[in-house]
Amino acid sequence: MHSKTTCSICKRQRIGSNSPYCLYHDLALKKVKEGYEVWKGALGMLSWERYLEIIFTLNETGDWAKEVAAHELVSSGRELPQPAKT
Ligand SMILES: [Zn+2]
Repeated sequence: MHSKTTCSICKRQRIGSNSPYCLYHDLALKKVKEGYEVWKGALGMLSWERYLEIIFTLNETGDWAKEVAAHELVSSGRELPQPAKT
């Protein structure tokens, strides 16, 4: 289990009590959320989980964003669309 003061993904310190992430993963989450708004505007109906699944499989998605997408999916009870890298 993770301690309450470290990032849920890596072992860096959290940016604050209102985020489960460190500076880098919190920034990645912000960018992922911005992207979601853009996609939703373009596609109309698109759930957050479905969006996460899509960007998780895209080669264009950066490693930080992929880690955040994977963590958000798993923590909402979803399975990842492909096996995680070993
Ligand atoms: Zn982190």
